[in-house]
Amino acid sequence: MKTEIESIAGETPGIAYQLIVHRFSGSDDSAPRVYIQAGLHADERPGVAALHYLIPMLEQAEAEGRLLGSLTLVPHANPIGAAQHLYGEHMGRFATGTRTNFNRDFPVPDENGVRVLDRASAPVFAERRLKSRLLELADGCPIVLDLHCDDESVQYIYAPEQLWPEMSDLAACLDAEAALLWDSGSDRAFEEAVFEQMTAQAPDGDLSGHCVTTVELRGQNDVTAALGKKDAEGIYRFLQGRGVVAADGKSAPALRADFVGKPIRHIDMVRAPVGGTILFHVAPGDRVEAGQMLAEIIVNPGSKDGTVAVSAPQAGYVLTRRIRRFIRMGDNLLKIIGDAPVASRKGALED
Ligand SMILES: [Zn+2]
Repeated sequence: MKTEIESIAGETPGIAYQLIVHRFSGSDDSAPRVYIQAGLHADERPGVAALHYLIPMLEQAEAEGRLLGSLTLVPHANPIGAAQHLYGEHMGRFATGTRTNFNRDFPVPDENGVRVLDRASAPVFAERRLKSRLLELADGCPIVLDLHCDDESVQYIYAPEQLWPEMSDLAACLDAEAALLWDSGSDRAFEEAVFEQMTAQAPDGDLSGHCVTTVELRGQNDVTAALGKKDAEGIYRFLQGRGVVAADGKSAPALRADFVGKPIRHIDMVRAPVGGTILFHVAPGDRVEAGQMLAEIIVNPGSKDGTVAVSAPQAGYVLTRRIRRFIRMGDNLLKIIGDAPVASRKGALED
């Protein structure tokens, strides 16, 4: 493994960010190339833990001559967001200087397939130059994993519909509970920008063997040695299945029996009808019926009518729920994968 520390200039004198890039050189030029990053939303740490365990596994494979494909790993993909704190609270999702989500507004190819990236010296904000650099590092890799997490959540992956069910091998290896399949814009998230570039570069639109995904490694607090190892082993197994690491003769795992894979238009975002203190009655992974109580929100503590009940808009599967227990009217309370599609659903699920 070779490690390079790249520098991203800040916007003001005396400020620079370090982007640590690890590279593994595989022995077989025909094996797929892989790009994996974690921490693009800098407050989402399960992916960093997974890479902490995956990197030594890949080093061992490299030392033993079992590494076929080349890999680029960026375990701290967002040093800008990692450094943002406001009154002691970490702010890792949006660039505070531009109010832009770190995982939106990536450059994508135009109708002629031409993508314009910001150069390292371009006179634009650092987060734009970072985004261009991350895309550049992923260029030419048919396998791209962007490791994220949700608030409180089961493990699920996003996948372009065009690459499903081929990408179900990843979900099976990770032991993921669910997949959301998308076929239209997500406000130019990293995954979407990579997929569009792959499509622009693919002769005849053939993307077989490709895999590009945002992996939601459960919830923000699901950061443990046990889960990090499990996720690293899952990714390693997937890489073996795709011929990046030599196979060991073990059979490929199957999807979980209770796996839920649905188009993203089935996502029912349940919002808080009032502000207050949340008492959840369901958890991620629960199956719910239409009208079932999902949560109560305490508005007037101690009063007989002091809570407002929130019920399921339709039958489905509880995918995620809010991590904090105080909520404003209109905030996202839960995400449900509904049995039926939601007519109004379009664009990215969240800001
Ligand atoms: Zn994220």
